[in-house]
Amino acid sequence: MVGTAWVASSSHAAPCDGPCRLLKSLPRCEIPVASAFDKNTIFPPRDDSDRYATPSDEQLEAFVRSLRAAVSGDRDAWGRAFEAGYLLCARPNEDTLLWRPAIAGSGWAIVALRAKGARPMIFEVPHPIYDAGTLRQGRYAYGAVSARALIASGTHRCANAGFTTCEGTTRVCSDRLEPYRESDVAHSERSMFHAAHRVLSDVYPRDKIISLHGMGDDGISLSDGTVIPTSSTSNVALLLFSLEDAFELELVTACNDAPGAAVSAHLCGTTNIQGRYTNGLSDHACTGTATAASDRFFHIEQSSAVRRRYRRVIRAIERVF
Ligand SMILES: [Zn+2]
Repeated sequence: MVGTAWVASSSHAAPCDGPCRLLKSLPRCEIPVASAFDKNTIFPPRDDSDRYATPSDEQLEAFVRSLRAAVSGDRDAWGRAFEAGYLLCARPNEDTLLWRPAIAGSGWAIVALRAKGARPMIFEVPHPIYDAGTLRQGRYAYGAVSARALIASGTHRCANAGFTTCEGTTRVCSDRLEPYRESDVAHSERSMFHAAHRVLSDVYPRDKIISLHGMGDDGISLSDGTVIPTSSTSNVALLLFSLEDAFELELVTACNDAPGAAVSAHLCGTTNIQGRYTNGLSDHACTGTATAASDRFFHIEQSSAVRRRYRRVIRAIERVF
């Protein structure tokens, strides 16, 4: 019987290639994946603290190389991560590779990559402190749907007083309309968060990327990173219909017009640079305007009531992808 069981399991086992090869060779993570995405572990720079450290070009490049090496199963990933200021470790029992800033409190992104058996979905949490509840939601999503990856910012978006050069203005950090802060990774190309987005968006071109946000208004506002009309069978429309079914008592609207869609151009994420990057503006995501949607990037704004029902949101997304 033992021999039979062995034959059966080995014939069904998926090949361990790419990042899976690193699960056993990298140092073991000291903490579970969920703990790495906990505010108390991240120790994020607070608003107006000026404690967020903008990474250097060399650090950004090393981080990109580390991620790319890991995806191809190259052990060089550990050394490149170290050069970037990161510790890369593995959680074999969670099939996950984990990048954490070597210096806690730097504000840099935390990245989890599922090394085998991943569903082609990448969750992003660019505003973990300001958009209360989205870090918990991302952490839940990563485990609940066996997502490919989770990328979370490690800083409050208003930590630093300095501004980015990216297009767009906001009142989120002060009473005045002003450019986005350099600590706002949804609007700063010079961030580890955006570096991770670029790599994973490129190396997994079929994956869907979901950027989780919170808003003060009621309901849910969904977009594909643009306000361009779409068809009723596009992913963004299907996602809208699934969220409408899951939240019958909430106002669920889309920024993209489609037959049967409730449309409202409300907080559409058109200046979100991760969306712009994946919608074709790879070299000028900071200042360009996307003229087409890839139908792979989804920007979801949620009221505090909706965020309290974060599991229901994730299950509605999972039903589409
Ligand atoms: Zn946000």
